[in-house]
Amino acid sequence: MIDLHTHSTASDGTDTPAELVAIAAAAGVTVLAVTDHDTTSGWGEALAARPPGMTIVPGTEFSCRYVPEEGRRISLHLLGYLFDPGHAGLRAERARLRETRLHRARQMVENMVADGVPITWEQVELIAAGGPVGRPHLGRALVVSGVVPDVDTAFRDWLSSRRPYYVPKADTDVFTAIRLVREAGGVPVFAHPFARRRGPVVSEQVVADMAAAGLVGLEVDHPDQDDTDRAQAAGLAQDLGLVATGSSDYHGTNKQTPIAVCTTDPAAYEELIDRPTARRPQWS
Ligand code: AMP
Ligand code: FE
Ligand code: FE
Ligand code: ZN
Repeated sequence: MIDLHTHSTASDGTDTPAELVAIAAAAGVTVLAVTDHDTTSGWGEALAARPPGMTIVPGTEFSCRYVPEEGRRISLHLLGYLFDPGHAGLRAERARLRETRLHRARQMVENMVADGVPITWEQVELIAAGGPVGRPHLGRALVVSGVVPDVDTAFRDWLSSRRPYYVPKADTDVFTAIRLVREAGGVPVFAHPFARRRGPVVSEQVVADMAAAGLVGLEVDHPDQDDTDRAQAAGLAQDLGLVATGSSDYHGTNKQTPIAVCTTDPAAYEELIDRPTARRPQWS
């Protein structure tokens, strides 16, 4: 079983990288990509925890945006696999993304505190444990403070971009991100491209432009994409010659999604890694 999109405590998951690897192995995952938001800091621990027989694919999920000539910008996520973590340009961009996350989370806490919500920045800082801070951390602070029963409700009632407390991040232009991942020897894959329930999604023309800019794959099977979304992504991957992947986007208890609930076909995985990359998957 191949799961190419998961999160650990290195970003907004609730399992340490070593726990994530153990949970994946116990579930029968044989190829696991560790793709924390805007950081590579979980790679070392995950690789060190790799049991015999399991392959680990180091990756990162980059926070991006598409800015149309007219209308509102659209937020989207780009998975980068097997890139050189020392590539200066991409490394600087990860650092900048973590900085804008910090700034934005502080501002969102201030907005909620100003409205009498009993959470503190210190609490959020503790929960994020030094990693890139995301809304799931704010959600857990709201749970711990008794404001909401679970993180899902926190998103719905407090953290969604449709709520007044929301503050946007200064995410990377997606074409810049594709270029940087490629320059760093990596493989870019568009994560949950048509997950409409998360918010507005880009048009098929934008995906075609991303393909022309060096995109390699499209995430087709993903818990946030329904059958219609998946059919659209699969058809587009076929038309554009992109590799179709499937992944759980596991976040531990910060999300309902079990590990390996969606998986990637072995032939698609081989196609993905069958290209010159700065790193190779780590296997026994
Ligand atoms: P951020 O990157 O800080 O804007 O937060 C987005 C993150 O929150 C993504 O990793 C999503 O997977 C996660 N997320 C989105 N909606 C929910 C939800 N309803 N419950 C838990 N996590 C969510
Ligand atoms: Fe996340
Ligand atoms: Fe994502
Ligand atoms: Zn993710």
